[in-house]
Amino acid sequence: MWREKVAQYEDKMIEDLTGLLNIRSVRDDSLADAEHPVGPGPRAALDYMYELAKRDGFNTHDVDHIAGRIEAGKGDEIFGILGHVDVVPEGSGWDTDPFNATVTEDRIIARGTLDDKGPTIAAYYAVKILEDMKVDWKKRIHIIIGTDEESEWKCTDRYFETEPMPDLGIAPDADFPLIHGEKGFSSFDIIQVSDEESETTPEVVLKALKSGERYNMVPDHAEAQLVVNEQMAFVIQSFEGFLKEHNLEGKHYVDNGQLKIEVEGKSVHGMEPFKGINAGLYLIHFLNSLDLDKKSKTFVQLGDEKLFDSHFGEKLGVQMETPELGRLTTNIGIISYTDVDGGVYGVNLRYPNGFEFDNEIEKLSNAIAPQFEVEVTKHQVPHYVDKNDPFVQKLLQAYRNQTGDMTEPYTIGGGTYARTMEKGVAFGAMFKDSEDLMHQKNEYITKKQLFDATAIYLEAIHSVCVEGE
Ligand SMILES: [Zn+2]
Repeated sequence: MWREKVAQYEDKMIEDLTGLLNIRSVRDDSLADAEHPVGPGPRAALDYMYELAKRDGFNTHDVDHIAGRIEAGKGDEIFGILGHVDVVPEGSGWDTDPFNATVTEDRIIARGTLDDKGPTIAAYYAVKILEDMKVDWKKRIHIIIGTDEESEWKCTDRYFETEPMPDLGIAPDADFPLIHGEKGFSSFDIIQVSDEESETTPEVVLKALKSGERYNMVPDHAEAQLVVNEQMAFVIQSFEGFLKEHNLEGKHYVDNGQLKIEVEGKSVHGMEPFKGINAGLYLIHFLNSLDLDKKSKTFVQLGDEKLFDSHFGEKLGVQMETPELGRLTTNIGIISYTDVDGGVYGVNLRYPNGFEFDNEIEKLSNAIAPQFEVEVTKHQVPHYVDKNDPFVQKLLQAYRNQTGDMTEPYTIGGGTYARTMEKGVAFGAMFKDSEDLMHQKNEYITKKQLFDATAIYLEAIHSVCVEGE
């Protein structure tokens, strides 16, 4: 019955979604001011949602033009629906205009169709259809619209400074059936601080090393520059042997009297570092076998002994696993060293509930002092909602009724928008068989996906906010 309800709105939905897609709502700090906190595009997309709401008879509440909400329902409890209307830049290689939506027989193609304008419109329409049905709401609905999800989440930060936290809620900005938990995560640097000069002349001096650019990716390339004072042939031979032994690609050449060596690895997302090959740490592992100058030896030794081939924090002594959120992981996404400044390891840590972050970081700092110190640049605590919570079960039931798919809710190592709500879960709108082109060229949503998602939201919101407890 819910899917039939949606059928009456299909043309209107596509029209409204197309209008939203055609706004290039990419963050642009060069055009930002108080009226347009992250640039004119995101603000225009937010205003567009307010216009839809006003047309359809809903109240809206703006929060400094960076976020806002559309209000529906009545009651003491607030059910939050959190979506975002900013998008990542289009990139290159599109077959159609990314900001002039193409509507074909079965799909809509444009930047933001999946992430997150399509799902936001689907959830909006679910509320609108219930409102048109004149249901007797038992809860208030806040459809919260953010405009900075793709960058810094300034939108939700600002919103929740002054606005009420929903008692429960969904973020239609990920996958079905439902993601009810997310690991805590942190990016931190292990920085070499002490200056140590070698008293004797070492066989090899490490001049520079570089690998990786992002904390949350496994680096697939690493390179080092070496001054080899003695035994050049031996060093090269060892390197070749090393590549062979570990089944790695790499190369070496002499440039300006310096030996340059490179290692290739395999890049994967930093939440599953064990699936990749960390080129940087392999290079460190090799370098630790050489007779190096004291400064670089100190750096290389730490990496080899505490970080290499240790994806679960084993060598750092921070291993942990819980049934709710799984295993702690560490990814060394950035490694850099120069003989002038010393070295840095950029670590991405993802950890389950119960891990005492501050305490563990202090223990680590103490263990590697005084040669190294730890600097935390980013930290978010784990997020977890019990999957047996009646509210989660109702969402799940709606998904199952509409799809027949019995997949269980799950937890992830990454972070979704849902974590900004105290009792928020990520709920759609990607299906198991959807092609995931989020942040890529030719992003599209199928009409089936859009309307099926709307029907699921419709049944779920009805179950939670109309049927009530
Ligand atoms: Zn998103």
